Amino acid sequence: MAETLNGVFIDVEVDASVTGDAELAKKLEEVCPVDIFAATGSGVEIVAENLDECVLCDLCVDAAPDGAVRVVKLYE
Ligand code: SF4
Repeated sequence: MAETLNGVFIDVEVDASVTGDAELAKKLEEVCPVDIFAATGSGVEIVAENLDECVLCDLCVDAAPDGAVRVVKLYE
C-alpha cells in the first residue's frame, strides 16, 4: 500500500511556459484522479503532498501541450 511509502517517488514537472495558463490549470486539476494539480489565481500549482499518489495514468501529459507536463519516476 502507498501508505507504507514515505519518500517522494514521483516528480511532476510543469514547464515554465504554461504554469501561468489558467485554462490549462483547470484542465489539469480536473483530469488528475489524485489531485496533484491545483488551479490557483496565478496558474498551475503542484500539490507536493499528493505526488506519491500518482498512478502514472498520463492523463495530465495528454491534457497539456506536447512536453509541457512531465511525470518523472524517481525509482526503477
Ligand atoms: S499521471 Fe495521472 S495521477 Fe499522475 S499526475 Fe498525471 S494525471 Fe495525476
